[in-house]
Amino acid sequence: MGGEIHDECGIAAVSLKRESKALFYLYRLLLNLQNRGQLSAGVTTYNKERPQLINTYRNIGTVNEVFRTSNVQKSMELFRKYAGSKGIGHVRYATCGTNERTQAQPFERKHGRLWKWFSFGFNGNLVNFEKLKKPLVEKTEYHFILNNDTEIIMHYLARELKGYKKPSLKAVFHNLSRIFDGAYNISFIDAYGDLAVCRDPLGFRPLCYAIMDGELFAASESNALVNIGARDFKSLQPGQLISVKNGDIKVETFSRPKRKAHCMFEWVYFANVGSVLDGRSVYVTRTRLGKELAKLEREKITNDHIVVPVPDTAKAAGDAYAYELGVPSMEALIRNRYVGRTFIEGTKREDKVANKYTVVKEILKDKKVLLVDDSIVRGTTSKQIVKFLKKLGGAKEVHVRVTCPPVKAPCFYGIDMSTVSELLLPQYEKELDPNKTSENVLDRIAKDMGADSLIYQTIPGLVNSIGLPKQDLCMGCLTGKYPTTCGRTTYCKALKEFRSGKSGKRSYER
Ligand code: SF4
Repeated sequence: MGGEIHDECGIAAVSLKRESKALFYLYRLLLNLQNRGQLSAGVTTYNKERPQLINTYRNIGTVNEVFRTSNVQKSMELFRKYAGSKGIGHVRYATCGTNERTQAQPFERKHGRLWKWFSFGFNGNLVNFEKLKKPLVEKTEYHFILNNDTEIIMHYLARELKGYKKPSLKAVFHNLSRIFDGAYNISFIDAYGDLAVCRDPLGFRPLCYAIMDGELFAASESNALVNIGARDFKSLQPGQLISVKNGDIKVETFSRPKRKAHCMFEWVYFANVGSVLDGRSVYVTRTRLGKELAKLEREKITNDHIVVPVPDTAKAAGDAYAYELGVPSMEALIRNRYVGRTFIEGTKREDKVANKYTVVKEILKDKKVLLVDDSIVRGTTSKQIVKFLKKLGGAKEVHVRVTCPPVKAPCFYGIDMSTVSELLLPQYEKELDPNKTSENVLDRIAKDMGADSLIYQTIPGLVNSIGLPKQDLCMGCLTGKYPTTCGRTTYCKALKEFRSGKSGKRSYER
């Protein structure tokens, strides 16, 4: 897929006992979460010596662009200005809204009362956005500036914090969990300096923390914690909140869900390959996916065959698949690591792929390529890659092998694929059967892609590879069976629209 879809965000939080170095840690955590969003980055820090007790800095760009690290003087000014003992951070990739700075997080809400003056960062997506917005608009005359779910969360948090006495954050998140439907990991800080990080009751997105010498560090992924020196980290359990108040760190349960719904795509594609999510290593999962895929191989292997993994997310799976089959795994598709985001790359998918990869024809010439990719969502990138391998590289055959089962339905929980019409599979299959995809459909897709054959991972192969019970995973986009009420109703609506030819908009369009 090579970056065809994106996660929405990454969050971080730091609480130190004395030193005002929270921003240095936040910066490093966010750098290590850059894979989760490159559109904008931001922080809110707390410093009781400052008139601005909590102060937010956010901007468009990668973490290093936002923190101006190419200009030492400017960067140091920022680090001095936003120095604090506590803080929260955010990196964003937008599935909705524009690229403006106003969309960047954290979102700060100022108020004269210390507990009502707060800031927060959000990772996920609320499926019942419209339902949540309605009472605010109708009954209480709220005004919406950005009209996105982050703004909704801000209003609902503010509503929970009203009154003359500060409520406990456990009560606040408990109340929100009764009305929010969707994925929502939230980092929160107020002008008292109280800080909290919460994971939604189904645990769609990952969230980890480490406590070192009485100081708290939290991040969406474990690799960020390990890279700042944490030797021991834990996953925050779904429905839990970790908070720091007057220096005391406490883990509390604000909701007791009947099931979990960890997004399977985190292991397949999104998360950093070095991370461990809910006790399961991303690297080990990807190697298992490769081994499972090898069990499905039908191609008669010859000396002309080579395995080419799509970098970087299919590398671990591709190598394991190649090892199982006894075929060399070759880097014949090289990712151009320093391209980054640029307007020069153009808007055409072909131009983007051309900018992103280099093919090594010295490896590919006259070879039968087993191309291992992590997933196919829209199919546009895969088609371009197959074309490049054959036309530019001179490959004789290209057989596409996919480590994720077919994506047959949209995601309403914060992944950038929220309509049926944008997905490849529904264009070929009338009845979207989660348990099988006919050979005929696979042959047609392969043909349209310019490939010689196509094999996808199976759902049992995926579940075995992750190693968590099936009922603890969200696989809504593979099966059409969503773990929340609004997910289910939104899918029915989306499918109906798609079948009537009306689709094209997000089913929860703002
Ligand atoms: S629908 Fe798919 S992408 Fe979305 S949270 Fe569930 S598994 Fe992840």
